[in-house]
Amino acid sequence: MTETVLAILNRPSLDAPAHDPAADAFEFAGPVEAHIAVTDLGITRGDGIFETITVTDGRPQALEAHLARFARSAQMLDLPAPDIDAWRRAIEAAVAELDPVEEAFAKTTLSRGVEGSGRPTGWVYAAPSGDSTEARTAGIAVVTLDRGYRHDVARTSPWLLQGAKTLSYALNMAAVREAERRGADDAIFVSTDGYVLEAPRANVIAAIDGRLVTPRTDIGILPGTTQADIFRFAAERGIDTAFELLTVADIRSADALWLASSVRGAAPIRTLDGAPHAIDRDLSDAINAFLHDRTE
Ligand code: PLP
Repeated sequence: MTETVLAILNRPSLDAPAHDPAADAFEFAGPVEAHIAVTDLGITRGDGIFETITVTDGRPQALEAHLARFARSAQMLDLPAPDIDAWRRAIEAAVAELDPVEEAFAKTTLSRGVEGSGRPTGWVYAAPSGDSTEARTAGIAVVTLDRGYRHDVARTSPWLLQGAKTLSYALNMAAVREAERRGADDAIFVSTDGYVLEAPRANVIAAIDGRLVTPRTDIGILPGTTQADIFRFAAERGIDTAFELLTVADIRSADALWLASSVRGAAPIRTLDGAPHAIDRDLSDAINAFLHDRTE
């Protein structure tokens, strides 16, 4: 067992040739050594996709939902379809190799590969997660940022790849830095026509009149695996849920707000654009306990 694990897929997609026809589906490799060619399109153009799967007490969470979204992202980028069985086995093997820790993550990456090779590159990297306790309990400060697109961009301009989990996260990280410059921890993107979209690395969930509401997923945002499991939690508790178009005014007046994502879980929002926002500590704790205790 080791602290970090790297598994490189020999044949990330059955639609493309294997890197080595005689080799196994994946092999472990030294995580800090160089493995990616400088001409890999994942590096040179951000042309690829990824998933980050949280692992609690050795259990990969929402694995099938992540794999399904991985396949969906590949389809949106016209990448060769990932061999889901091989990826599942590589993820499970990488996680099994990790030193036992309460919270870890497994990140899957599939790039278009070395330019001209016609062979995608794929790997799974697993490592312990940072401590998210403070974000889950004390909450986070969030600012709204203009995304620069209308909310119907996925329909009008699918080549913008909104809603795919691509390797092109430079702008997502720029938005987080902008939030930090404004004294906040994170951001919520808003469409040019005034609708709440998502955070750069998370989905938005609002408690409104006793319901949990999240933005519709047809507006160029990622369908969140954590959001889906929070709605499962709500269903078990008899709390109604809905996918709706939400405005900034809607979330400002919500009874409670969270950013939901795989590693951080449900982070309650304690200030929105500098204004204090109420936190429902009991509900936050119950959601995070539910997420932590998932068995699949
Ligand atoms: N939206 C974006 C843009 C993300 O990058 C992420 C996760 O990284 C999410 C939403 C939340 O997805 P999940 O809950 O599946 O981690």
